[in-house]
Amino acid sequence: MDIPRIFNITESAHRIHNPFTPDKLARLGEALRLERGTRVLDLGSGSGEMLCTWARDHGVIGTGIDMSQLFTEHAKIRAKELGVADQVQFIHDDAAGYVADEKVDVAACVGATWIGGGVPGTIELLAQSLSTGGIILIGEPYWRQLPPTDDVVKGCHAHSISDYLILPELLASFGRLGYDVVEMVLADQDAWDRYEAAKWLTMRRWLDANPDDELANDVRVQLTSEPERYATYTREYMGWGVFALMAR
Ligand code: SAH
Repeated sequence: MDIPRIFNITESAHRIHNPFTPDKLARLGEALRLERGTRVLDLGSGSGEMLCTWARDHGVIGTGIDMSQLFTEHAKIRAKELGVADQVQFIHDDAAGYVADEKVDVAACVGATWIGGGVPGTIELLAQSLSTGGIILIGEPYWRQLPPTDDVVKGCHAHSISDYLILPELLASFGRLGYDVVEMVLADQDAWDRYEAAKWLTMRRWLDANPDDELANDVRVQLTSEPERYATYTREYMGWGVFALMAR
């Protein structure tokens, strides 16, 4: 079981697999006023940067589940590196339907809401692991500006304009699901660059080292087109943020 190999190639050097910088991740941890011993569940934990740094900086304990074997290995290495391997554990598995045995104080899905079939389903899934008064974290894209044409929608790798909402509507949608939005930290274009542009050097180095790989042509096509596509579409039209929710 694994995610499509192309992501394990293009994001192999990422610590954060989202348009978030270490600074923003730290700001989010501070904004949540985490206390020592806070239990955190992270579905789609990637390379574990959120759990590992929050374990180091705030003394949280927790579990991350991710379907990428490579990212899960990186997360375990990172936990050792930061000296928090006794506080956090990482499980290589499909997180769809995952409910924690013991309730947690923070249940997160940051940039992987397809795990619950979309935002509402993911909130419902996370809520099953959450103790009363706990916080749900959802990382999700939104439209910074509404795409004026279908070309822009496709250029952003969306299927339809209805894939995402604009920020005020996304915030209102959490309310309609019965949740207060109690905090948020948003990506900016610099954070988007850290996520997207960091793939380019990774792709280039991978291509140089693996010219005969079966994916070499796909990676070459992506590396050739991505900088322009990204600057034209995603960088201008897509927003992204992590939203902290508490049930009303
Ligand atoms: N939250 C992390 C990773 C976000 S990228 C971060 O912010 O860095 C999305 C992650 O979801 C990837 O690590 C991918 O491997 C993982 N993923 C995709 N489908 C999954 C599934 N069904 N179950 C668990 N993880 C999944």
